[in-house]
Amino acid sequence: MIRETEILVIGGGPAGLCAAKAAASLGAHVLICERDYVPGGQLVKQTHKFFGSEKQYAGERGIQIGKTLIDEITAEPKIEILTEATVLGIYEDGIVTVLHQNQHLKIRPQKTIVTTGAAEKFLAFPGNDLPGIYGAGAVQTLMNVAGVKPAERVVMVGAGNIGLIVSYQLMQAGVQVAAVVEAAPKIGGYLVHASKIRRAGVPIRTGYTIKEAYGTDCLEGVVICKLDEKWQMIPGTEETIPCDTLCLAVGLTPLAELCWQAGCQMAFIRELSGHVPLLDENLETTVPGLYAAGDVAGIEEASAAMVEGRLAGCSAAASLGYSPREAEAMRQAARQDLEELRSGPTGAKIRAGLEKMYRKKGEVKAC
Ligand SMILES: Cc1cc2nc3c(=O)[nH]c(=O)nc-3n(C[C@H](O)[C@H](O)[C@H](O)COP(=O)(O)OP(=O)(O)OC[C@H]3O[C@@H](n4cnc5c(N)ncnc54)[C@H](O)[C@@H]3O)c2cc1C
Repeated sequence: MIRETEILVIGGGPAGLCAAKAAASLGAHVLICERDYVPGGQLVKQTHKFFGSEKQYAGERGIQIGKTLIDEITAEPKIEILTEATVLGIYEDGIVTVLHQNQHLKIRPQKTIVTTGAAEKFLAFPGNDLPGIYGAGAVQTLMNVAGVKPAERVVMVGAGNIGLIVSYQLMQAGVQVAAVVEAAPKIGGYLVHASKIRRAGVPIRTGYTIKEAYGTDCLEGVVICKLDEKWQMIPGTEETIPCDTLCLAVGLTPLAELCWQAGCQMAFIRELSGHVPLLDENLETTVPGLYAAGDVAGIEEASAAMVEGRLAGCSAAASLGYSPREAEAMRQAARQDLEELRSGPTGAKIRAGLEKMYRKKGEVKAC
């Protein structure tokens, strides 16, 4: 049997939940498929207070923002959420296949919004397959979702916001952070996060990388090495740091496989952190009726993911004929919120990435 729905949202993170809420507020029926046991995406493990705009819950803890969004969605009768529902494929005839609690489902949506988020990047170095080497997101899930202390003594690679925040949360969980190692010459994350861990005595070693990890059955330590201005290791600068866990916080990349498979035009855009679908101003991909929002469309922050979700949700509902005037007002408000979030020096990278994306989209249209 094929299940019909007006709008299918793939992924129940902040982008997906906001997309569903916006579409339902205009009158559309929405089905959300979330592969995890609970919706909320990355928010379920963010115990720290978020920065950004007050309109997007700045000052609240991520976990609290997630609860607020889930409560709003649960109270909305036009939205249904399937958890433990992994979308496997989007096919040419419009059918979407899902593995839901060990059963295969077929869904035929009129519109689909992909909000699958991101995957962690990894690094290549000798010994990187030893037990004890994790992505930072996995360590955060172990600590803040499963309540498991993941290590005794950790080395963190990456001094962006994720590396700094997860280092601080590891210390709160009673783990010793031996060092934060960062290849770039300066710290990439907010200085407020860096200061907190520095004050607690954790050295942040900028201009260093991991040369190798060692251990017999599991990780026993790492060798770090200084980099020159061409990012090459300088022989003789090696230092050994004993640790039982190495945590990699070296960036995220859009989880866009479903967009590839659906036949969307894709482009590699460095500023958006990987391959992304080409989108128009309503976040519709080059496949009509298929939208993308949040980290899958370029790595940014939860605040932007929520607003993009709203934009995609009301665009999808409007294209089904729901409340066109109200939808247009919502779209304009969302575009303005995005412009504000992306203004100033912190938004420069994402603005450059989007410019490239729109340019490439224009080239596709012209073909
Ligand atoms: C450590 C850390 C700290 C952060 N701090 C901040 C901060 O202070 N402020 C801020 O604004 N942002 C912060 N962020 C970033 C923010 O969490 C993300 O930008 C945001 O969660 C992206 O939302 P999303 O909905 O696009 O993706 P996600 O939150 O990743 O949600 C995607 C969802 O899709 C589901 N999914 C994936 N594939 C499938 C599939 N095939 N089928 C069904 N479901 C699927 C996933 O399970 C997930 O629930 C932080 C991130 C991290 C990791």
